[in-house]
Amino acid sequence: MRASAYPLVDAADAAALVLEHTPVLGPETVALSEASGRVLAEDLVASSALPPHPASAVDGYAVRAADAGRTLRVVGESAAGRPLFAQVDPGTAARILTGGVVPVGADTVVMVEDTRVDGDSVTVPAVLKAGTNLHRPGADLRAGELVMPAGTQLGPAEIGLAAALGVPRLQVHRRPRVALMSTGDELVEVGETPGPGQIPDSNRWALLAALREAGAEVRLLGIGPDNANDLRKLVTGALHDADALVTSGGVSVGTHDLVKPLLESLGTVHVGRVKLKPGKPFTFATLSEGRLAFGLPGFPVSSLVTFEVFVRPALRKMQGLVQLQRPSLQVRLGFHAQAVGDRTEYHRVTLRREGVELIATSTGSQSSSRLMSLAGAHALVRVPPGDQGISAGSVVEALILSLP
Ligand code: AMP
Ligand code: MG
Repeated sequence: MRASAYPLVDAADAAALVLEHTPVLGPETVALSEASGRVLAEDLVASSALPPHPASAVDGYAVRAADAGRTLRVVGESAAGRPLFAQVDPGTAARILTGGVVPVGADTVVMVEDTRVDGDSVTVPAVLKAGTNLHRPGADLRAGELVMPAGTQLGPAEIGLAAALGVPRLQVHRRPRVALMSTGDELVEVGETPGPGQIPDSNRWALLAALREAGAEVRLLGIGPDNANDLRKLVTGALHDADALVTSGGVSVGTHDLVKPLLESLGTVHVGRVKLKPGKPFTFATLSEGRLAFGLPGFPVSSLVTFEVFVRPALRKMQGLVQLQRPSLQVRLGFHAQAVGDRTEYHRVTLRREGVELIATSTGSQSSSRLMSLAGAHALVRVPPGDQGISAGSVVEALILSLP
């Protein structure tokens, strides 16, 4: 049997091997409207100071601190976007509104609540301190300062910063384009009535969601048949505009499992079996022009867990992210976790807070066909191979999928 020729690779070694072969994708320019979630491919340096001018933080009067306690003549008004072009000389003041430019000569702003206004004059408190109630130019950012280094993922605040600096477009890493295919003659479209022995193609939709969450642009190839020629046509037709191919099914050792030979004929298979549960048949290959191919096992949990362990970090590396793994937190096991044989097991758990601790509860039967073991799971606990397992009450690092 052909597939059994592949050596069983340690799960951590396989993950490292995948990342070794994963390229960081080149840059493209996007408008701010399209920048959310993308990763900067260049340093963003402030071309001007923020704020660009001394701006009032309150509604009140711009004055000289040296004029404390005096009654001052009001020479005009500085509103946001409508600066006063007069100077504040000794003995004078300018009415100012929040965001208004503090006029030349003034060194402090007195809140309107602290003044007494009488016609064209204003009386200010007996004690004033220069620099109060105003934002100095460059207080937030100086011109020339590094705002965000390459590798920064752009969220609302980061996009707002770029906009505040007047930058309408940003250089970001390209997002990986992924061709996604399910394989298996037993599969029918979701919504169609399965005939005898048939099941809905659920992996397509689960993996589509996982791919999008990981930042990929997905092209759906639909269901590939268990027929070497048709499969080959479908895959080669889709590869020209893809950075990666992700398939599910067809990688175990049965006679209808055609993905490994296909990937072998198209490139180099680096991983053909992994010491991992679920996900032993996981297959990784490199194809022409640096393209990656991930042959995920068909069982629904196996395909999603191998996606988590191998595909998601690679997709994150491709788009320039620095943090490739899920965040991990210490959790206390509420059960005894036991791996089977020499395979690392990713045990699915829910978490609940108890005081300052997170307590992990098993999601029940960890069968690779039982999606209920992953639905609603908050974390994955890595159980090392061996007879000992991890005893109940132990504190372990868990990969966090979502927090309760
Ligand atoms: P395979 O790896 O092709 O031998 O698939 C193993 C098992 O996974 C199959 O017998 C199906 O029960 C299941 N399976 C394969 N592909 C899918 C899919 N796209 N959606 C749901 N289940 C699948
Ligand atoms: Mg199959």
